[in-house]
Amino acid sequence: MIPYGKQEITQQDIDAVLGVLLSDFLTQGPQVPKFEEAIRHKVEAESAVAVNSATSALHIACLALGVGRGDSVWTVPISFVASANCALYCGAKIDFVEVDTTTYNMSISSLKEKLEYAAKNNCLPKVVIPVHLSGLPCDMKAISMLSKEYDFSIIEDASHAIGASYEHEPVGNCRYSDITVFSFHPVKIITTAEGGIATTNNLDLAKKMRLLRSHGVTRDPELLQKKGAEGWYYEQQILGFNYRMTDMQAALGVSQLERLEKVVEKRNYLARRYDELLQNLEIELPLIPEDSYSSFHLYIIRLKSSKLSRMEFFNYLRESGVGVNIHYIPIHTQPYYKQLGFQVGDFPVSEEYYDDAVSIPLFHTMTLGQQDRVIEVIKEALK
Ligand SMILES: *Cc1c(COP(=O)(O)O)cnc(C)c1O
Repeated sequence: MIPYGKQEITQQDIDAVLGVLLSDFLTQGPQVPKFEEAIRHKVEAESAVAVNSATSALHIACLALGVGRGDSVWTVPISFVASANCALYCGAKIDFVEVDTTTYNMSISSLKEKLEYAAKNNCLPKVVIPVHLSGLPCDMKAISMLSKEYDFSIIEDASHAIGASYEHEPVGNCRYSDITVFSFHPVKIITTAEGGIATTNNLDLAKKMRLLRSHGVTRDPELLQKKGAEGWYYEQQILGFNYRMTDMQAALGVSQLERLEKVVEKRNYLARRYDELLQNLEIELPLIPEDSYSSFHLYIIRLKSSKLSRMEFFNYLRESGVGVNIHYIPIHTQPYYKQLGFQVGDFPVSEEYYDDAVSIPLFHTMTLGQQDRVIEVIKEALK
């Protein structure tokens, strides 16, 4: 089976992790700050806080922005459930904004409309979480302008988008947001096994996220309430969690990050090749707006066949050894979310997208032979 995505582990990665295993620190050693510094530098942000998953990063990002009971958080239905769950962890309400019909990212006109309505009904969101689906940056400038008009904070869910750029600047620099979150799960662009990071230019938010990541406990003399404290002294100042990344993970991340550009370039090369070789079939190919560079975490096509249902297409490809996948089942149609009051029909554009979207294999170690095979099977299926 040609998988839809696949991580790469090199000898350099293995040596980096072995180095940590043979050192004095498995966790809370020098590798996590080193990884944070490398990411911060790469995405051109002031600060980076590494944690054990992007899910944890989304949670502490919401908390650092003050999300709590009575607040509302908005994201999109077309994402992984974690983009929405983070609001619920904080006791806040979640709502969704429709996706755009061409990019499948948050629709700016829907956001505008929903904000106008919410302003009249006194239910504006505290935080909006746009998701850079497949690594294609959202229209952050427009979202940022609306955030000033309607006074909400922005967390970019860039789980798919490390290595992508928006208006020729790296995603993660937070020019148009308060916090950006990346995931390093093995299916993503680069990996730390489990892992995530939050970047920000706001040092106060960074400080809060650092506290939240580790029990709300600090030993930093500058942060302690007690002055002139003893050498052993530490303080719990807020209720935090154990969301720490290990040094083994961070060392893997540092090593993987070194080839980020190459990985993303190769993904773009393969995507261009799909663009060329999948012309004139009953499918829609992903759109690439100007001024953006996608990291191509996913290559999502939409089936427009007059003969074949999406299920038949999906089954044909799987049975032919092509590991296709669907990203994503709209969050609001999940049983848990239905129980919160959402219904099928609430977000028709997202649901229509879901009905015919298919992610086809794309990973940077994919050979041209494997890609040709995928193309051949797609053509066979649509014949
Ligand atoms: C993978 C993913 C997450 C969660 O990432 P983890 O690191 O597995 O917690 C969140 N949002 C999106 C859009 C994702 O794809």
